[in-house]
Amino acid sequence: MSRLDSALEPIYAQVLQRNPGEDEFHQAVLEVLDSLGAVVAKHKTYMDARVIERICEPERQIIFRVPWVDDRGEVQINRGFRVEFNSVLGPFKGGIRFHPSVLLGTVKFLGFEQVFKNALTGLPIGGGKGGSDFDPKSRTDGEVMRFCQSFMTELYRHLGEYRDVPAGDIGVGPRELGYLFGQYKRITNRYESATLTGKGIGWGGSQVRKEATGYGTVYFANEMLGTVNGSFDGKTVVVSGSGNVAIYAIEKVQELGGTVVACSDSAGYVVEESGIDLELLKEIKEVRRGRVREYAEERRAKYVTDGSIWNVPCQVALPCATQNELDPDGARALVAGGCVVVAEGANMPTTPDAVRVLQGAGVLFGPGKAANAGGVATSALEMQQNASRDSWTFEYTEGRLAAIMRGIHERCAGTAEEYGEPGNYVVGANAAAFMRVADAMLAMGVI
Ligand code: GLU
Repeated sequence: MSRLDSALEPIYAQVLQRNPGEDEFHQAVLEVLDSLGAVVAKHKTYMDARVIERICEPERQIIFRVPWVDDRGEVQINRGFRVEFNSVLGPFKGGIRFHPSVLLGTVKFLGFEQVFKNALTGLPIGGGKGGSDFDPKSRTDGEVMRFCQSFMTELYRHLGEYRDVPAGDIGVGPRELGYLFGQYKRITNRYESATLTGKGIGWGGSQVRKEATGYGTVYFANEMLGTVNGSFDGKTVVVSGSGNVAIYAIEKVQELGGTVVACSDSAGYVVEESGIDLELLKEIKEVRRGRVREYAEERRAKYVTDGSIWNVPCQVALPCATQNELDPDGARALVAGGCVVVAEGANMPTTPDAVRVLQGAGVLFGPGKAANAGGVATSALEMQQNASRDSWTFEYTEGRLAAIMRGIHERCAGTAEEYGEPGNYVVGANAAAFMRVADAMLAMGVI
C-alpha cells in the first residue's frame, strides 16, 4: 500500500516503464517518492523544472565485460557495472559490490540510495555505485587478484578524484581494494590516493574507515534512543550479518554497554544470551574468512539454519546483512519481542511492508541512507586527508564521524517535524536529502 501523491504517480509510472524488471530499483525510488508529497506541494519549482525525473535517471551507466583466467587455466567472463548516478554535489562516490546476485538493477538501486545518503552527510560527494556478478567467496587470492585487475583495466578510464571515487561494499574489502588500487596506479602511472577509498592505513587509508559504517549506525541508533530518553546501556541487541558492518556495529554496541545476543550469515544465525565473543568472531571472519557455523561450533552456542534471526527477542535490532532481509513476519516478531528501535546498517534491508509494520507499532525506524552513512562520510574524510597529504589520528577521525552522525540525525528529525511527521526518519531523510540535491540541480540549470 503506497501513499504516493497523485502529482508523483506519472513520474513513478515512467520509472517502471523505463527500467523493466529492476524491482529493487523500483522499490528504492518508490520509497523516496512516497516521502515527497508535502515537499513538492510546498515547492512548486521542483515539479516545474522536472527535477525529480532528472534525479531518477542516472547521469551515466557503464556496463563492461570482465574476462580473466582462473587457476585451472580456464577463461571466465563476468559482467562489470558502474552507475554514475548524480554528481551535482561532488564527484560520484559509492562502493563496488562483488556478489553473484548483482545485476544492473541492483547497482541502480544502490546508486540511487547513495545519492541521498551522501547528500545527508552534508559533505561534497555525489552518488554512484559499481559491481560485478563475480563471487570472491569461492575464489583463491590469485583469482581475486586477476579478476580485480581485469575489472580495473576497464573501469580506470572513468575514475579520478574529481570524477568518480569507488570504495568497498559486499564482497569488496581490503584485499580487493588493494588489488584494484594497485592496478589503477599501474595503468595510470600516477599515485592518485583520493581515487579510491577504504585503502589500507599504510598506503593512504583513513583511521576509522573500516569501523565507520558499523560505528556510525550505532551512533545514529543511540541518537534515536536518546529521543525517548534511552541509551544502549543494558540493552539487548540483535545484529544481522557478520561482515564488516555487523562486526563494528557489535563492537560499538558493546562499548556503549549493550549486549549483542545474535548475529548471522546467509546460512544461519547464532544466539548467545551472554553476548557474542567479538574477538573470536573477528578471527573467524576477518582472518580465516570463515562462517558463523564455525563460530557457533567453537563457542558451543545455539546455531539455527531454518529460522529467522528476528525471532530472537531484543530491544534494538540492527539489520546489517543485505537488502530485503527483514520482511513483515520478521517485523512482527521484533515487535512481539519488545523491540523499540530498528536502524539499518545495510542498504534497504527492510522491505516497505515491514517498515509499515514497525512504524505502525510505534517502533522508531532509521533508514539506511541516514543510519549507515558513516561509512561513506568517513570515505569523504579519507579524501580530505589524501587531498591535503595528511593523516589524522583515530580519536580525531572518530570525533568527526560522531559529529557527522549527530548532524544527520538532527537533519532527519528536524525535517520530519517540519513536514508534520515527527519521529518519521524515512520522511525526514528522504525530504532533507532530496532538497539538498534538487536545490543544487536547480542552481545549475537544466543538467
Ligand atoms: N558501500 C558503502 C555504502 O553503501 C560505502 C561507500 C563509500 O565509502 O564510498 O555507503
